[in-house]
Amino acid sequence: MQHDFIEITGAREHNLKGVSLRVPKRAITVFTGVSGSGKSSLVFGTIAAESQRQLNETFSAFARNRLPRHGRPDADAIANLSTAIVVDQKRLGGNSRSTVGTITDIYALLRLLYSRVGTPFVGFSNVFSFNDPQGMCPECHGLGRIDVLDLDAFFDLDLSLNDGALRYPDFRVGTYYWGYYVNSGHFDNDKPLRDYTGDEWHMLLYGSDGKVGFDTAYGKLYSDYEGAVDRFTRLYIRKGAEDMSERGRAAYLSFVVSGRCGACGGTRLNPEVLGCTIDGRNIAELAAMEAVDLVEVLRGIDAPVGATVLAELIERIEHLIGIGLGYLSLDRRTATLSGGESQRIKMVRHLGSSLTDVMYIFDEPSIGLHARDVRRLNTLLRELRDKGNTVLVVEHDPDVIEIADHVVDLGPRAGADGGEIVYEGGLAGLAAADTLTARHLRTGVRLKERVRRPTGRLKITGAATHNLRDVSVAVPTGVLTAVTGVAGSGKSTLINEHFLVENPEAVVIDQSAIGTSRRSNPATYTGAMDDIRRLFAKANGVSASLFSANSKGACEACNGLGVIYTELAFMAPMTSTCEVCQGRRFKSGVLAHTVRGRTISDVLAMPVAEAAAFFTEPGIAAVLGSLEAVGLGYLTLGQPVSTLSGGECQRIKLAGELRKSAATYVLDEPTTGLHMSDVAHLLRILERLVDGGGTVVVIEHDLDVVKSADWVIDLGPEGGRDGGAVVFEGTPGEMAASGDSHTARHLREDVR
Ligand code: ADP
Ligand code: ADP
Ligand code: ZN
Ligand code: ZN
Repeated sequence: MQHDFIEITGAREHNLKGVSLRVPKRAITVFTGVSGSGKSSLVFGTIAAESQRQLNETFSAFARNRLPRHGRPDADAIANLSTAIVVDQKRLGGNSRSTVGTITDIYALLRLLYSRVGTPFVGFSNVFSFNDPQGMCPECHGLGRIDVLDLDAFFDLDLSLNDGALRYPDFRVGTYYWGYYVNSGHFDNDKPLRDYTGDEWHMLLYGSDGKVGFDTAYGKLYSDYEGAVDRFTRLYIRKGAEDMSERGRAAYLSFVVSGRCGACGGTRLNPEVLGCTIDGRNIAELAAMEAVDLVEVLRGIDAPVGATVLAELIERIEHLIGIGLGYLSLDRRTATLSGGESQRIKMVRHLGSSLTDVMYIFDEPSIGLHARDVRRLNTLLRELRDKGNTVLVVEHDPDVIEIADHVVDLGPRAGADGGEIVYEGGLAGLAAADTLTARHLRTGVRLKERVRRPTGRLKITGAATHNLRDVSVAVPTGVLTAVTGVAGSGKSTLINEHFLVENPEAVVIDQSAIGTSRRSNPATYTGAMDDIRRLFAKANGVSASLFSANSKGACEACNGLGVIYTELAFMAPMTSTCEVCQGRRFKSGVLAHTVRGRTISDVLAMPVAEAAAFFTEPGIAAVLGSLEAVGLGYLTLGQPVSTLSGGECQRIKLAGELRKSAATYVLDEPTTGLHMSDVAHLLRILERLVDGGGTVVVIEHDLDVVKSADWVIDLGPEGGRDGGAVVFEGTPGEMAASGDSHTARHLREDVR
């Protein structure tokens, strides 16, 4: 065949050094390499970006003007691309109307089933939708939850109306609404609310009966007097927070309490819809079941008219279970899902599609998955391939690398020391290659034999949130503890809802962004920039502020950013190098000042590792040294933090902690985005924190981390309802020797 390869020639995005490669079509290609070696630049920045750009070119000029405009990736040629579908880990988020069921279309099938075989028949399938006016609960408009005015927040009982007893901003003394109550003639405006009689309270809250009504012609309430609760409900609660300004919403949210809607019991549906059942169960009951239970119920339904829908439903739910999400219910809000769960949900959507010859691109799909579920993930990736699709996977997990038809290993190291293909070919060849990946695949990490002795214990007692079954467990201090278990077993719930609540001083080092400001970069974020500016000032006898990106010394065209961002109405902005300063960020006068021959612009363009060798000043050297210690030596000092990955953000935060005194640290899957050699690096940092007297708790699947822990707390035995218990506590050695949980079994296989 002619078009059997995607051909990339001379790719140079970011750190890529003119790489050329051929990616086989209808095969699984795994891209691996240390963090910062250039995987994303190649897979997302070059291949996916070019596919998207070419797709956009095929649209009419009218449509094109409304689509994001992608610059042509920096490469000599890219040929034979298929349409790319990127399945990433961006959280699904979404509004409160988005659930696992709606986003996977499984709920739509369930509605169809009810409209065909439910008794009594209540209407077409849209009637069963809580997003349709015909189906939604009229009280909560299909949200399942309802806000009510928080009286304690709204009223200050110690004050009178004249003194400001009404606390809501729009009701404060002097406002129109305040005047409305003060001038109503119903109240003694100088009497503290605490002294109000029952009747006065009723009048203030709800007004007098009979005088309030609904004007159907105008669609609003009329009254000669309206109580404060009714007024607040009408003006704010009925409208909902979604359309409010950010400030308005913040104020609103601090004056309401949210609770389950009493009318529908949180099911979001109206009574008529809830009255329609199949085998005695309504649609809300099915949506509330865990997928593993739901599929059993569906298998038990005997309904010839619905047979096709049933079969399709069962297949979709099996995909959900197959990808390790069997513990989720269809009514689970997507906003509460983790990044890994979100990615797997997106995968379910694609598995249901019959598209072929598509290029699917996955970003570390093993995130959040236990070794047990990685096997199932592999099955699904193979299924996608076998349907005739090209599958590209950026991944570090040896168990996923194992299924590659083709491996592209980037390196040899990160940043300027990376950007080359160090191995390309089959798995067998990789085993013999001399790359970091190959070496780590061969040697692995040894089980820690001598564990540390705890200095004390932090107890969690009676934890029962979500699926936790009255868990009591002690987290040892002064050691490294790994919290393990299959997805959905309750790890995050135990740590986030209990451990952190009971130990509020613990420092959470997560992967959330460390700022969206384009002005923030590793140098400013860590504080090193202040010292660097002072150094430049002293060496040149000028003011330190001259070297600040928001000073008079900065290039006026780009405001010291070196690049120009062109904002586009609904999409990500376009960036281009500033033509005035050529990306140098500062005016030429400022660039005349140097330290040891380097300008401030040169310094911002230096990778951390180079800068760490360049600056001998103790303060600056210490900060840069800690960034290097966390494996970020390849970042340039001036790279906007908005371009950093979650893992990189997490390591910048870790670097900051290395310079502080001992504390309790919690990390949720810190190996995300890390190559095996980076994990070894990370483990050394964690060891340093512990050796400094710290307590480190990591939620982690990576067996290398488990093997290096001093203590393991394993949750399970399964996910969801069948999880929520501690199934093992002890050292990794004990776990490998005698544990019988999923984690223990996989650990045993791994160390053998
Ligand atoms: P990987 O995916 O292997 O972790 P990346 O492709 O993200 O590596 O990064 C390769 C190099 O390119 C790194 O030095 C990184 O700092 C740099 N880089 C990545 N994104 C950007 C960006 N938006 N602007 C400038 N440099 C970037
Ligand atoms: P893990 O961290 O081990 O993957 P979680 O603590 O996230 O597990 O989940 C444990 C159980 O609690 C699962 O059944 C999950 O569906 C449920 N759960 C987690 N978060 C929420 C939430 N925000 N709302 C409802 N259920 C939740
Ligand atoms: Zn309701
Ligand atoms: Zn400029």
